[in-house]
Amino acid sequence: MTILCTALRVERAAVAAAARGMRLLHTGIGPARVAAACLPAEPTLTAGVGGGLSPHVRPGDVVVASEVRGDGPPVSIRSAPLLAGALRRRGLNVHIGPVLSTAKIAEGATRQALAESGALAVDMESYAVAQAIGDQPYAVVRSIVDTVDQPLIRPGTPWRGFRALQALRACAPVFEQWSAAVADRSVVLATPRSFCAGVSRAIDTVDRALERFGAPVYVRRQIVHNAHVVRELESRGAIFVQEVEEVPRGSTLVLAAHGVSPAVRSAAADRDLAVIDATCPLVSKVHAEVRRSSTRGETIFLIGHGDHEEVQGTVGEAPDSVVIVEDVEAARRVRPGDPRRVAYATQTTLAVDEAEDIAAVLRERFPDVTAPRSDDICYATTNRQAAVRAIADVSDLVLVVGSTNSSNSRRLVEVCERAGTPARLVDDAGEVDLRWLAGARRIGLTAGASAPSQLVDEIGFCLSGLGSVDLTESSGSHEDITFTLPREVS
Ligand code: SF4
Repeated sequence: MTILCTALRVERAAVAAAARGMRLLHTGIGPARVAAACLPAEPTLTAGVGGGLSPHVRPGDVVVASEVRGDGPPVSIRSAPLLAGALRRRGLNVHIGPVLSTAKIAEGATRQALAESGALAVDMESYAVAQAIGDQPYAVVRSIVDTVDQPLIRPGTPWRGFRALQALRACAPVFEQWSAAVADRSVVLATPRSFCAGVSRAIDTVDRALERFGAPVYVRRQIVHNAHVVRELESRGAIFVQEVEEVPRGSTLVLAAHGVSPAVRSAAADRDLAVIDATCPLVSKVHAEVRRSSTRGETIFLIGHGDHEEVQGTVGEAPDSVVIVEDVEAARRVRPGDPRRVAYATQTTLAVDEAEDIAAVLRERFPDVTAPRSDDICYATTNRQAAVRAIADVSDLVLVVGSTNSSNSRRLVEVCERAGTPARLVDDAGEVDLRWLAGARRIGLTAGASAPSQLVDEIGFCLSGLGSVDLTESSGSHEDITFTLPREVS
């Protein structure tokens, strides 16, 4: 059974009712009392009030320790992002970072010196508990009463203490979730996963443009559909815009990996923008097919999602000739002008089997339909779907890393669900809900083609903070495709 460790009776009272399924253990204040409590080597969560050190941490905020520091080597707390994410979803103001344990209450100049250490908060027990339980799963949550500029010995302390205990009470149901998620697990990583050649090329293009031309470099829409990638490039000087009209005349503009319609290119030319085209070559191939078919006077059935930027860009190549076909029902209904002069093309990031079902209906209804010369659904989409299907078979739950607007990531979730395995799309570890993990001993992990691989690694690391993890990698297709950069930045 997991242990919920508190030092003060008021802390224990704040969490006792909500944190069911955990053994409550009251140590008393300070490392000596923790040592005297002879804590068993069990998974443990230390909860209570604490003092803020960082100026960003205010009374009533909650600090989740990513590391506890004391008079020995620091102890890393690997499940912290999962816990912090769960607490944020409860509406609490949560910070994640190092927590420092001291033997005495630190005030005045000592407190100021501690604040300069980079720790977010200070307490008196967390480090001693970490030492007592050894390598068992561990977590620390502190709700803040006092700060460097609002020390304990001040008139407002009772009110701040009340707020901190209220925050602690609000945390308690999450402690129970953490406790239920503690388990030894097997984790299997899908191969391949994460960045494809088109995404790497697009990100490198913005990077190189920033290097070569200096900030700001404008990017129309998200360069790839991933919030982390966009934030990272923004921090280096990229400015993301929705439309070309937002870009100052004469600036440098990068077009995103999903491709654009010719109308966007001419709008950019009208504004004298220096355009660098990061459209994935495999998307450009579909554009070229559509242009060819349109020149031949064919109606082109574009199998894809009408609200996706890639499809909108492709339609723009021949708006009068393209008919979007989103599903099998639509394929059964479409009526082209001349049923013998028809072709079809496919969005690059669709579910392979669903797209094939739609194409089969079109082929049956229109025997003369021209198919793409080679598959439009790209190698990266195909390989990632095959890989996730393989791990779904041996998983209780599959976590797919990717943003909600990433088509290929969402398809990975659907592939698992069709295989009968629950799957969740998460942007990062903070979005992994602890409740999904309860009872899930076999976790599959993958990432869409636009999601950085370190986000997958981070989730594996967090899971290892809930129990031992037996990590394996599935065998899958080896990818060695690369695309050359646009000439402006090569
Ligand atoms: Fe290109 Fe496919 Fe990657 Fe899209 S998912 S950028 S089409 S390689």
